[in-house]
Amino acid sequence: MMHPEPSGATEGQGQTMTQVAEPGSARAGANGHETGAIGAVHHWIGGRIVEGASGRRGPVYDPATGRIAREVDFANDDEVGAAVAAATAAFPAWRSTSLSKRTEILFRVRNLVETHRKEIAGHLTAEHGKVPSDALGEVARGIENLEFACGIPNLLKGGFTEQASTGVDVFQIRQPIGVVAGITPFNFPAMVPMWMFANAIACGNTFVLKPSEKDPSASMLIAELLHDAGVPDGVFNVVHGDKVAVDAILTHPDIAAISFVGSTPIARYIYETGTKNGKRVQALGGAKNHMIVLPDADIDMAADAAVSAGYGSAGERCMAIATVVAVGAVADPLVEAIKARLPKIKVGPGSDPDAEMGPLVTKQHRDKVASYLDSGPAQGATVVTDGREHPLYDESEGGFFLGLSLIDNVTTDMDAYKDEIFGPVLTVMRVDTYEEAVHLVNDNPYGNGTAIFTRDGGAARQFQFEAKAGMVGINVPIPVPVAYYSFGGWKASLFGDLHMYGPEGIQFYTRAKIVTQRWPDPGTSKVDLGFPRTR
Ligand code: NAD
Repeated sequence: MMHPEPSGATEGQGQTMTQVAEPGSARAGANGHETGAIGAVHHWIGGRIVEGASGRRGPVYDPATGRIAREVDFANDDEVGAAVAAATAAFPAWRSTSLSKRTEILFRVRNLVETHRKEIAGHLTAEHGKVPSDALGEVARGIENLEFACGIPNLLKGGFTEQASTGVDVFQIRQPIGVVAGITPFNFPAMVPMWMFANAIACGNTFVLKPSEKDPSASMLIAELLHDAGVPDGVFNVVHGDKVAVDAILTHPDIAAISFVGSTPIARYIYETGTKNGKRVQALGGAKNHMIVLPDADIDMAADAAVSAGYGSAGERCMAIATVVAVGAVADPLVEAIKARLPKIKVGPGSDPDAEMGPLVTKQHRDKVASYLDSGPAQGATVVTDGREHPLYDESEGGFFLGLSLIDNVTTDMDAYKDEIFGPVLTVMRVDTYEEAVHLVNDNPYGNGTAIFTRDGGAARQFQFEAKAGMVGINVPIPVPVAYYSFGGWKASLFGDLHMYGPEGIQFYTRAKIVTQRWPDPGTSKVDLGFPRTR
């Protein structure tokens, strides 16, 4: 069980500890934010908290108040090197640990995460801003990945061929690849790390996580839980930081593979730099998810889905619906139905039990998202609902809130369409035919998720067949696959070959070895210089 301690006061193995100072220790500073004697989030290396020595730190905000709640250490090359060294040292024993023992530990991890789900969710609300129901949902989806990883003995079963040649058998085994790293985004500070490390360590690898510097605390609680569950020291490490830490990971010779989730420009950079340095890389990028609504769709069902998927988590989901594509006469009633739902959604801080949508992660991001409410109409779109009219929207101080916003008549040449907005600004595009709607999806540079709403099974099947996206929803607006399938987009939404978690995650974190064996039979011994033949 963990309880708060001042930062840096509790180091050492086997202790109960936490790294996060209470926000109450902060005081108001000249810039209107809390600064000064605040606590800091440190690294987790070799099974213990390690205070950063680089001299560099970044602020961690409480998005609901706009104040700096704490700081986070930024790792340099040496600190990343220390984490990789701990992971390298732990690898031989961990990969030799029996599958039944690894499974037993993973079960305990799963149970501890479940027991502490509200604490984890509390960190998400405090630093990301998402409301508690949403934060608990994130933890639950992460737990699915731990549960999947508990099946590792079955997942690592290979194939066996008896008598491939006379007296010769062939079989395949999958082995871990070594030290692997995960670099994760701000919008799912618990779930995305679990997408990665659950399967990575289940396969016998050791792991170095570099979480988003915007909301780092959940990863430290998770590190403690892994420690408490019996994951050996060095198997799971956390280093915090920015580009300096990421670049140290990308170039470190002892890191075999990198899983990345974040924006497309950084995903491309991670993929290009990581592979240039000889690493296996899967880098998931940004998105622009279209929800097509055909004229025969149930308007209420489609409007509910558009609101849930457009504004849930304040639109800060890579699978959020960014644009509703209304086909034909469905447009007017659909826009009216969405508009009517918006005032009913309660915007507020996570501390308000009635709040359904929280603030955005930083002021800079909130202001960028709000800017589309100016550029949209300037480029010819129609603002139906302006979230800046919400009482919690305040440009000068306070939390980073923006009310639910709706922009109609958006076209492909507008910034509101070309950019990934990643906030509570839903756009509507109007087209005349199904074919035009599919062209929008398929011509877009991103290809993460897409959805179609219709009562026509034939149209839905045609869409499933021809949509150029990695995840398709049919009357389901956010088709995030369950943990026993894999998650990944197409086009600029994924760089690399393998999708994340599920069966492809197991493939990513292992490499195949094929063994061809013959046992000596003195009677058949002979020299043969020809290429081995099976017949
Ligand atoms: P981001 O790309 O800014 O940051 C992701 C990670 O990269 C962080 O750990 C960050 O510290 C690091 N980073 C940032 N700038 C860097 C740089 N210049 N060099 C090296 N490393 C750098 O993304 P974000 O803002 O944290 O997250 C939101 C983005 O992530 C959105 O684009 C969203 O669509 C995407 N996302 C995608 C998926 C998916 O599965 N495809 C899931 C979640 C989020």
